[in-house]
Amino acid sequence: MNFKYFLPTNIFFGQDCIVKNAETFDKSGKKAVIVTGKKSARLNGSEKDVRAALDSRGIPFVLFNEVESNPSIETVRKAAELSRNENADFVIGIGGGSPLDAAKAIAVLINNDVNDDELFSGKYLNPVAPVIAVPTTAGTGSEVTPYAILTDKKIENKKNLSTPLIFPAAAFLDAKYTESLPLNVTVNTAIDLMSHSVEGYLASRANSMSRMYSIESLNVFGECIPALTGKAELNIKIREKLLYASMMAGIVIAHTGTTVVHAMGYPLTYFRKIEHGRANGLLMHEYLKFISSMHPDKVKILIHELGLADIKEFGNLMDMLLGEKEILSRDEIEKFSSVALQAGSISNTDPVPKIDDIKKIFTSSFPG
Ligand code: NAP
Ligand code: FE
Repeated sequence: MNFKYFLPTNIFFGQDCIVKNAETFDKSGKKAVIVTGKKSARLNGSEKDVRAALDSRGIPFVLFNEVESNPSIETVRKAAELSRNENADFVIGIGGGSPLDAAKAIAVLINNDVNDDELFSGKYLNPVAPVIAVPTTAGTGSEVTPYAILTDKKIENKKNLSTPLIFPAAAFLDAKYTESLPLNVTVNTAIDLMSHSVEGYLASRANSMSRMYSIESLNVFGECIPALTGKAELNIKIREKLLYASMMAGIVIAHTGTTVVHAMGYPLTYFRKIEHGRANGLLMHEYLKFISSMHPDKVKILIHELGLADIKEFGNLMDMLLGEKEILSRDEIEKFSSVALQAGSISNTDPVPKIDDIKKIFTSSFPG
């Protein structure tokens, strides 16, 4: 056996965990920049709880609430400039994966005036500011990963900033913030967590520790399937399970990275505006068929952990969760396949797909 395991994030999970552990903020710095999306953090109570915790500790803050889905490099640069002007020395990201990822990149830029190449290099002259993460979707696991996925308009794709320096120092997971998620966002983000656990389990970089988290996460996800497909109530207990499973799936990819599914999903999001989790979900069934040709036993284990009988039943589940599928043209398949092939995560897929494998997964995943 041979592996590395590193998780420097202090995790607080449970109802009211922010206000109950407000002293945690003292360790991070003297002034915070709170980073959110446009609306949801104000409506679901998460921003209010963070403000209350900071007030109770006498820590001042400034707010940046302009993070869009799939955040751009321009947005994080704008937020970093505000943070520097306001002398903020730590970053609190509240929201889905987009504000959390933006918070990590802002933390790099606060103390480092670097160009885009240097930003993605993972090596900086000055320290990265501490990040505190408050997820309000249950899917990306960004609160426990060393990744920030940014949209780079120059390369017309999403790009992964990956360095242990951006692991959040602390993460607060309270499922009550996720109660306001609409069903489609709940389902899409849940698919993202499932894809992290599945891809992580099957990745070349998987190890016995990461597989343990994959299995636990898929088991818990399996318990949520009836609620996700409308056959049971989507109550706070299920919300909590999804948040827990998402965090574990984040721990998985923090160690294994993602694979061909994420590589293929990024152009679907960039060019066709398909939400991140949904993009992965659309590809997942054909991806499992592809992996199964080489590793049928591993795929069977995962399907059983989800509580399903076989790959066919998995395909039916995905069809139910995804509803009507988008249509891709031949030109799009050609273009997206060459984009996907460039991604570093392709070589982390076992077996490593060739261009024709990628085209086949795209072609079989979409009607038309
Ligand atoms: P998101 O883009 O963060 O948010 C999607 C939508 O959900 C937004 O409109 C947001 O509204 C809304 N929302 C968030 N929380 C809500 C709540 N509690 N109630 C109601 N609405 C809420 O979506 P996401 O799927 O969580 O994140 C996707 C991003 O994460 C992608 O860029 C993806 O590449 C990245 N990602 C990162 C990692 C990693 O390890 N770092 C892993 C996987 C994916 P507001 O804008 O108003 O907040
Ligand atoms: Fe993802």
